[in-house]
Amino acid sequence: MKRKAQAQHPMLKAGITGGIGSGKTTVCKMFEKLGMPVYYADDQAKYLMQHEHFLIDQLKKNFGEDVYANGKLDRKLLAGKVFNDPARLALLNSLVHPAVFRDTERWMEEQKEKKVPYVLKEAALLVETGSYKALDKLIVVTAPLDTRVQRVSERDKTNEEEIMARVKNQLPEEEKVKLADFVITNTGSLEELEQQVLKIHEQMIEENSKLAV
Ligand code: ADP
Repeated sequence: MKRKAQAQHPMLKAGITGGIGSGKTTVCKMFEKLGMPVYYADDQAKYLMQHEHFLIDQLKKNFGEDVYANGKLDRKLLAGKVFNDPARLALLNSLVHPAVFRDTERWMEEQKEKKVPYVLKEAALLVETGSYKALDKLIVVTAPLDTRVQRVSERDKTNEEEIMARVKNQLPEEEKVKLADFVITNTGSLEELEQQVLKIHEQMIEENSKLAV
C-alpha cells in the first residue's frame, strides 16, 4: 500500500545554479511563491559549519581549534587560512560538501511528506562540486557578466575586484548551460523572469506526471 502511495506522488529533484549575480536567489523566491520547497545549500553550509558536530570536529582538526572561538566559527580567520591557497580551499570544500550532501538527502526525504511534484536545491557551485549528478533536472540562470557585476555591486555594496575574485572560483556559464535541462536568461524585467519560471514550473509538473503512472 505504502509503495503504491509513493508511486502516485513521485517527487522530482531539480538543481538551480548560475554565476554570482545571475539571479538564482530571485528565481528561487519565485519558485517558493509557487509553493515549491527550496534548499539553499550555501546558507545551509554556513549553518552546518556552526551546528553539525562531526563537521565542526573535522574543521578543528584540519584548520586548528582557534577557528571556533567560544563555540562560534570565526569565518574571517578560516577564510584567511584558505585564502590564495587552492590546496587548503580544496580541503575545506572536501569537508563541507559531503556534510551538505548528507543534509540535502535528509531534507529531500522530509519534503516527500508534502507531496509536491518537485523540490529545488540552489547552490552557486552545484556543477563544480558534482552534486548536480544526484538531481533529476538542472536549471541554469544566466546573465551577461557586466549585468551581474552591476547587480552584485548594488546588492552587496562591494567593488568589482571582489566580485571578480568570486567569479574566478566558478565555472564559466557556457559550461553550465551545456549541462542544463532548462536555461533562464535573466536580462529583462522581473516580470519576464517570472514568466520563464512559470513555464519551467509547468514543464516540471508535466515531467512529474509522466512518472505518476
Ligand atoms: P544570485 O543569487 O545569483 O547571486 P540574486 O538573485 O541575489 O543573484 O540577484 C542579484 C541582484 O540583482 C539582487 O539584488 C536582485 O534583486 C537583482 N536582480 C536579479 N534579477 C533582476 C532583474 N531581472 N531585474 C532587476 N534586478 C534583478
